[in-house]
Amino acid sequence: MEKIAQEVCKWYTTCPIRTFTGQGKLEPYWVEHYCMRGNKHCVRFRMQENGEYHPDNMLPDGTKRDDL
Ligand code: SF4
Repeated sequence: MEKIAQEVCKWYTTCPIRTFTGQGKLEPYWVEHYCMRGNKHCVRFRMQENGEYHPDNMLPDGTKRDDL
């Protein structure tokens, strides 16, 4: 059986996406599909690496949520 490797994003412990999910404000989808999968397409990750400002309420796909 094929084994799917889990690769946790290096920013996970300090990322607000984790905090919002823990508080029940955000669907687990984001953590499951980005943070636990090596963040391959995470916009937050890319901006963090480039030293670019990104607000806490910006999701891994780059959309912003007014309710966060
Ligand atoms: S939201 Fe992006 S930067 Fe934050 S922990 Fe998840 S993958 Fe990493």
